[in-house]
Amino acid sequence: MKIVFATNNPNKLKEIQSLIPKEIEIISLNEIGCNEDIPETGDTLEANAFQKAHYIKDNFNYDCFADDTGLEIDELNGDPGVYSARYAGPERNANANMNKVLNELKGKKNRKAKFRTAIALTLNNEKHLFEGEINGYISDVKQGNEGFGYDPIFIPENNTRSFAHMSMQEKGAISHRGQAVKKLVAYLNNLSKPNS
Ligand code: IMP
Repeated sequence: MKIVFATNNPNKLKEIQSLIPKEIEIISLNEIGCNEDIPETGDTLEANAFQKAHYIKDNFNYDCFADDTGLEIDELNGDPGVYSARYAGPERNANANMNKVLNELKGKKNRKAKFRTAIALTLNNEKHLFEGEINGYISDVKQGNEGFGYDPIFIPENNTRSFAHMSMQEKGAISHRGQAVKKLVAYLNNLSKPNS
């Protein structure tokens, strides 16, 4: 089975390829000649994920899945949420985004946060949604060198280390995206079974 993963983020592509069985071939946007910025104008993660998946189906005629992730911080009433990528400005700079979060939370006791991922799949003219989330808290300083985005300031529940201290496999086993991908993979695997 060949399916497009609608992302330009090489880290996400690697993470998802490490979670998906080899029988399912993931095709990148590059490989289908999609070099434009796919619109993400929704005001929820789910809306953005479906917008991206439908864009590929409508313009390139490939079955596709797309994800959208947000970091939701209690003390900030769920911000940056769906605006996580551009929290500190249109440059989508991870360091600037983390600095802004750390500044907003300076001196605050409640540092609870969660990552949420929505994965939208368009397949055989049907659409499906798979979700994952992980609770944790925002550290006082950045820590660790692995991962990407907000990983250095997010400490998952029942852990003392940030996501950026974890290997891709360790993070994927518990992460928001890992959980959503597991549901996606279970669905795709089930489809290829006889009589399903
Ligand atoms: P998007 O889902 O690629 O739009 O990501 C939204 C924002 O969340 C971007 O700033 C990403 O860098 C960040 N982000 C997405 N997934 C993760 C993750 O697994 N860890 C840390 N940051 C993430």
